Amino acid sequence: MSDRSDRQVRSIVIVGGGTAGWMTAAALAHKLSGLDVSITLVESAEIGTVGVGEATLPQIRDFNRSLGIDEAEMMARTAATIKLGIEFCDWGRIGDRYFHPFGAHGEAIGPADFHHYWAKLNAAGDAAPFGDYCYPIVAARNDRFALPDAEPESGLSAYSYAFQFDASLYGVFLAAFAQERGTKRVEGKVVSVRTDGESGFIAAIALESGGEIAGDLFVDCSGFRGLLIEQELETGYEDWSGYLPCNRAWAVPCAIEGPVGPYTRSTARTAGWQWRIPLQHRIGNGHVYCDRYIGDQDALDQLMTTLEGDPLADPKQLFFKTGKRRRLWNRNCVAIGLSGGFLEPLESTSIDLIQSGIVNLLALFPEKDCAARDADEYNRLMDLEFERIRDFLMLHYVATQRDDAALWRDMREMEWPDSLAYKIDAFRRRGIVPEYESGLFQPPSWLSVFIGQNILPQSVDPRTDRMTADEIAAQLRRIRASISGAVEETSEHLAFIAGHGASFGGARADVA
Ligand SMILES: Cc1cc2nc3c(=O)[nH]c(=O)nc-3n(C[C@H](O)[C@H](O)[C@H](O)COP(=O)(O)OP(=O)(O)OC[C@H]3O[C@@H](n4cnc5c(N)ncnc54)[C@H](O)[C@@H]3O)c2cc1C
Repeated sequence: MSDRSDRQVRSIVIVGGGTAGWMTAAALAHKLSGLDVSITLVESAEIGTVGVGEATLPQIRDFNRSLGIDEAEMMARTAATIKLGIEFCDWGRIGDRYFHPFGAHGEAIGPADFHHYWAKLNAAGDAAPFGDYCYPIVAARNDRFALPDAEPESGLSAYSYAFQFDASLYGVFLAAFAQERGTKRVEGKVVSVRTDGESGFIAAIALESGGEIAGDLFVDCSGFRGLLIEQELETGYEDWSGYLPCNRAWAVPCAIEGPVGPYTRSTARTAGWQWRIPLQHRIGNGHVYCDRYIGDQDALDQLMTTLEGDPLADPKQLFFKTGKRRRLWNRNCVAIGLSGGFLEPLESTSIDLIQSGIVNLLALFPEKDCAARDADEYNRLMDLEFERIRDFLMLHYVATQRDDAALWRDMREMEWPDSLAYKIDAFRRRGIVPEYESGLFQPPSWLSVFIGQNILPQSVDPRTDRMTADEIAAQLRRIRASISGAVEETSEHLAFIAGHGASFGGARADVA
């Protein structure tokens, strides 16, 4: 075997100390421990972080687990609540409400998938709403939560959960974790970048305070500005605002005035949508909108007049363009986080994309030459993640019957990517949801949005005919009754948190 030591990456420099920077530092420090590799993270308090990003996906639990992080401690340190999914209000039609849960609807009652039986009964007017056949939805609506049963046979094992947390506190938590494992933190502003004339690789970054930090591998976590990947390497950006036009947001926290609920809420508005994300001590709110359809002041007014409690800070405005870098890994620079792209926060996918970036970087961890084929593979995997999330987000906008505002009419009539058009067509014709080999949102997620936004199959799996309508109805009644019985036995959400991750000694309401 040839001697690898000259080729091995010895120094990693991470630019940026937001959620992306500290997640990357924590994971690299943990996974590369024992190797002779230094990790340096540079962040600038003067520039600060984007300061939003409170709702997560269940995959974050894998991330925490793989680092050996204790969940209850993490929840306490970040004022986290439980998230069982997202409630969507007014998306299909004004007045509609449905849930995209972290779990499947129904259970196997015959050879066809559950939703075919439900659709058949629903077409005959005999089914309850689809969400009534899903434990996490019914639990969320009743403000209840219990950990999923570890026993796969149990009816209460087929769901998952995520967190709603204070992302800046999560950053602080991971910063301590990473520094305890040897990551060096440098406070300072990067003012220039030195590249190697021959290879075009980044050789070092220079700080305003003077001095350079050299490295073999650079991770750009500098946020929307893409300090290394774009400003220095001019990688280029694929602009997807033709597909996902929202480009601005107002964000503001408010006081808690009632049950927090173990879920995020997204309410469609005339020119975008509004989020409600409850933490232990406050509610995060935001209005995501497209400036072609509404002015900034009107967008702010829509947000401020619909807060459920007193605002706890001045509203903050954010600007973005949906899309992604043409190459997330370019030469010896990998862009993770907002520097790599942003698809808008409708399904809380950004932190998950950070996680995918880290997992793929570790899987393909390079030598000093950053072999082009490894970078190509990384870019292929990340492109797939971005494209599939884009299609799923678009589904929410295009599967609407709203006619009250130009945004909704335009989204309905726009040209869809082939990949999305096929998925909608397959479901509409025959109730089929083709499965991805990889990718974040699997059939249960697509089903929730299709049915939740009133796209129903014109015909269903013929194998449903092996049961009579009465037999199907009896099975659905049984499932629904068993779910509502289980929910009655489930503890209240905040009672669960009191024994598993309460912040502030449990006195959440006193702390803003
Ligand atoms: C409106 C909105 C809502 C969102 N909601 C969610 C959500 O609910 N769930 C979710 O998963 N994601 C959400 N996101 C995305 C989420 O906020 C980000 O993915 C996450 O915060 C990571 O950001 P980041 O670390 O890439 O960038 P940032 O937080 O912007 O951090 C950039 C870092 O780089 C540093 N930096 C920049 N330039 C320099 C320089 N010259 N020198 C030194 N340091 C520098 C900054 O100081 C900072 O530390 C949302 C985003 C927006 C815009």
